Amino acid sequence: MTRQLQNYIDGRWTPASGPAGEPVQNPANGETVATIEYSTPDDVDEAVQAGQSAFEEWRNTPVEQRIQPMFELKNLLEAHQDELAEALVEEHGKTFKEAKGELRRGIENVEVACGIPSMMQAGHLPNAAPEIDETAVRKPLGVFAAVTPFNFPGMIPLWFLPYAVATGNAFILKPSEKTPVTAQKIVELVDEAGFPDGIVQLVNGDADAVNALIEHPGVEGVSFVGSTPVAKHVYESAAKHGKRVQAQGGAKNHIVVAESADLDFAADQTLGSAFANTGQRCLANPVAVVDSSIYDEFADLLVEKAREMTVADGLSDDVDMGPLISGPHRDNVLDYIETGIEEGAELLLDGRETDVPAEGSFLGPTIFGDVDPDATIAREEIFGPVLALVEAEDFDHAIDLVNRSDFGNASSLFTDRGSDAKRFRHEVEAGNLAVNAGTAAPMAFFHFGGWKDSFFGDLHAQGEDMIHFYTDKAIYIERWPDA
Ligand code: NAD
Repeated sequence: MTRQLQNYIDGRWTPASGPAGEPVQNPANGETVATIEYSTPDDVDEAVQAGQSAFEEWRNTPVEQRIQPMFELKNLLEAHQDELAEALVEEHGKTFKEAKGELRRGIENVEVACGIPSMMQAGHLPNAAPEIDETAVRKPLGVFAAVTPFNFPGMIPLWFLPYAVATGNAFILKPSEKTPVTAQKIVELVDEAGFPDGIVQLVNGDADAVNALIEHPGVEGVSFVGSTPVAKHVYESAAKHGKRVQAQGGAKNHIVVAESADLDFAADQTLGSAFANTGQRCLANPVAVVDSSIYDEFADLLVEKAREMTVADGLSDDVDMGPLISGPHRDNVLDYIETGIEEGAELLLDGRETDVPAEGSFLGPTIFGDVDPDATIAREEIFGPVLALVEAEDFDHAIDLVNRSDFGNASSLFTDRGSDAKRFRHEVEAGNLAVNAGTAAPMAFFHFGGWKDSFFGDLHAQGEDMIHFYTDKAIYIERWPDA
């Protein structure tokens, strides 16, 4: 069934008033799953005004009452998890298991936001000075917006929405126009959960809707997740318009495989990291920096295991990898494979030859060996199932190779030596680090964000950072001499 996507403004579902966008297609078979119209600046203005009106009462609603719909939202998301996961696979292509995993990660943030009454407390000190009591408070600010990418359509909106509204703000979501269906289904559950009209709203669209949000004087702050060039633009433009802003960008992460690593385990984790979500993850590690003493053995192991992967529709049984998001994106990834060959890397496993379904934007796991650390495929974000193996002379060299990247989102180390792990933790320049785990994805009660060209701003997503982003601090100083 083809869905007709709508905006959700002031508690009502209405078509956006702008032009029709590209229909949302299932990347596994090209079928249209939804049609969409894009929001105009007038639609955005209507949402901001509705948010501002709703904010006045919501900010004064006791926090204990504000979290009741949040508990309800958690229950609804859990009850509808399979249905949401299916819609997510149909619009994105990832496997059903990956979709369920991502939704679980999103729900964790709703759970954390249910604890806002404790998290919002800021401190009180009686007799801070003679006759003086001092109290710190956190106050919500008004209307916030979040702009999200295509690759985690269920989880990423939930990095922001629960914290924004539980702290007492109004929130407007602008999901990726490539994968807007899951967001609409989540907002339908928000509607059912009983939040007041105007507190959670949804606008659809592309850059025009985003720019209308970041330029609107009624928006207090913007959270962005997407590619680095757009993250930079959003960061600069939102700051110029006087807003709080946090902008997560792209990535090119490294796994370091040290001499002492358990190679079989490290190979499984490296493949999981590079190829889950068909390589379309900001936390994927598409470059493996491998100690020269174990390089050949590890490369053989990776190729042998990757050959066994099944590439098919994400809803089919026993599938390891679904399609890429679209045909044009697949063409970009194929161009990178050509570039890798032209620049002299050794194609150890050619995903273009993998047995894949005839329809859809499929590509098999691809592994390059002997990759020059300065080669295009070792430096640029490909966002597809392409793994580059780089040989390191020793551990010093490996750390140097990781830190040469323009990006700093994540990195993983496989080792059996505590001293390597300690150096890695202290010296690697990235925001999410893991030892003996392929993907450094923090739980919702920890902050999530990268360094360098992977992040622009101060406060990261998730957990306590979001409380600081969505509130302003104030101090009350009280003197009662008669008391
Ligand atoms: P994208 O930058 O193309 O789009 C992200 C959002 O920005 C979408 O909502 C889109 O409508 C909007 N947008 C696109 N162009 C715009 C413009 N010129 N002006 C204003 N808004 C614009 O990213 P994508 O392709 O949807 O997602 C993939 C990227 O996101 C990758 O680079 C990936 O690494 C990154 N990502 C980063 C993180 C992180 O936490 N750092 C997480 C997930 C994805």
